[in-house]
Amino acid sequence: MTNIRRGADGQIEAFKCRTCDQWHDGPVGYLGADAPDFVWHMSEEDREKHLTLTSDHCVLEQDERTDYLICATLEIPVIGRAQPLGFGVWTSLSEKNFERTNALWETPGRESEEPYFAWLCTRLPGYPDTMFLKTWVQTRPVGERPSVMAFEPTDHPLVAEQRDGITVDRLLEIVEAAFH
Ligand SMILES: [Zn+2]
Repeated sequence: MTNIRRGADGQIEAFKCRTCDQWHDGPVGYLGADAPDFVWHMSEEDREKHLTLTSDHCVLEQDERTDYLICATLEIPVIGRAQPLGFGVWTSLSEKNFERTNALWETPGRESEEPYFAWLCTRLPGYPDTMFLKTWVQTRPVGERPSVMAFEPTDHPLVAEQRDGITVDRLLEIVEAAFH
């Protein structure tokens, strides 16, 4: 494809955007999120009062309820390409599973945990609203973020594409949406 520039290792380094007609440099493999989406709508004062946020954890105490979130990686297979498209996302767990995650933080073999149910709390570019999709969160070995599999509603494009994979063209469409 002439709209892609690849490095010596074959990875996509830059691509020509169909939205603005400029070349955008990568990364074309991973799109992160520093905090759950609702954090961007909170005032500085509310954040100080109600929020505890690290690069991996988020606890929101507000209106006599507490939400427990962790950062995880959602991967979408790219057809014909070894490296998937990865998103950093935030997922909301039960208090019990959140505490379990913390208890096992440094425990070798923790990846043998059963998946935890969680709600997706990050809006992904290139998709209809992905807030509160139902997901399974799988604990990964120590040092790795958990992986997320969206499973419901089953007709949501994210669920379908995570299951079936996407083309490189669709990958670029998603990355373009993230740039604009
Ligand atoms: Zn662009």
